[in-house]
Amino acid sequence: MKKTKKLMVGNVPIGGGFPITVQTMTTEKTSNIDSVVSQINDFEKAGCDISRSAVNSFEDAKAIKEIKKRTNLPFIADIQFDYKLAIAAVEGGCDALRINPGNIGSVDKVKLVVEKCKEYKIPIRIGVNSGSVHQSQIEKYNGVNVNSLVFSAMDEVKVLEEMGFFDIAISIKSSVVNTMIEVNRKISTLCDYPLHIGVTEAGPFFSSTVKSSIGIGTLLSEGIGDTIRVSITGDPLEEIRVGKEILKSLNLRKDGIDIVSCPTCSRTTVDLKKIVKEVEIKTKDIKKDIKVAIMGCPVNGPGESKEADLGIAASNGIGFLFKNGEIIKKVKEDEIIDTLIKAIEESK
Ligand code: SF4
Repeated sequence: MKKTKKLMVGNVPIGGGFPITVQTMTTEKTSNIDSVVSQINDFEKAGCDISRSAVNSFEDAKAIKEIKKRTNLPFIADIQFDYKLAIAAVEGGCDALRINPGNIGSVDKVKLVVEKCKEYKIPIRIGVNSGSVHQSQIEKYNGVNVNSLVFSAMDEVKVLEEMGFFDIAISIKSSVVNTMIEVNRKISTLCDYPLHIGVTEAGPFFSSTVKSSIGIGTLLSEGIGDTIRVSITGDPLEEIRVGKEILKSLNLRKDGIDIVSCPTCSRTTVDLKKIVKEVEIKTKDIKKDIKVAIMGCPVNGPGESKEADLGIAASNGIGFLFKNGEIIKKVKEDEIIDTLIKAIEESK
């Protein structure tokens, strides 16, 4: 894993070799305090590390103070254009700002925002996407491409560095998976700031899960990336679920049940899909680091999942509960789910 500079977003470290964090965004208007508080608290329960909210008005900025009082997750204020809103968000108690300095306007305005972040000791995440590539870089590199995206981001970094500001995270977004991979590979060779990675506008659940797993997964497997956001047109809780699963599949996160289940085949004689679905739902909030195998036959089940801590191999109305590869109990099909859940709860 590439060692980047450590930043603190509230009480959560990003970069510096600390665990990769999962982020998502609230979808309610930030001034709807009760709704946003409820969303953020649901994010926390789902295992999200950091929450971000758009701040589009002074009412939104004013709401941050109350939202922070009633939630635990670090709060990132996402500002599009108005430097005064950025300043109000910082004064309102946000834990980090997400801005695109190029959209904030003149250097003087950016400087006022930067000075405020210095005063409140909070980091800034800068961002560039295909729509905000600098004209000078487009001309230099003949269009919107990996180089113009990366060097536009480096321009933004330079603006902040020249103001003596170094608590920076960078995100370069693209909805094209290959581009997203290439820009992050490239910028990680040019600086040591932590990288926020994700495939932007990745679409609905299914296509986003595939694109995000490939884009984020490829980079993380190369040691690139410090914090992730899966972008899904849909429920932010799904973004968290997919993000956590990407980290778990790369052994970068270990706070939940890892279900290993067979694809089923003509040997399967129980309703394995139903068993897996129910176990998945019933264990979604369990934070134990346990691998649980659910297999459709006793012949291959224990053998195929020797590395699992616990498991069930089911066949012909019978489930064999096994622990560390050894069968320890035999139960009827309708007792499989409860037996397995109980074993998970009792395990260390
Ligand atoms: Fe088929 Fe058994 Fe393998 Fe499941 S574990 S896919 S039922 S052989």
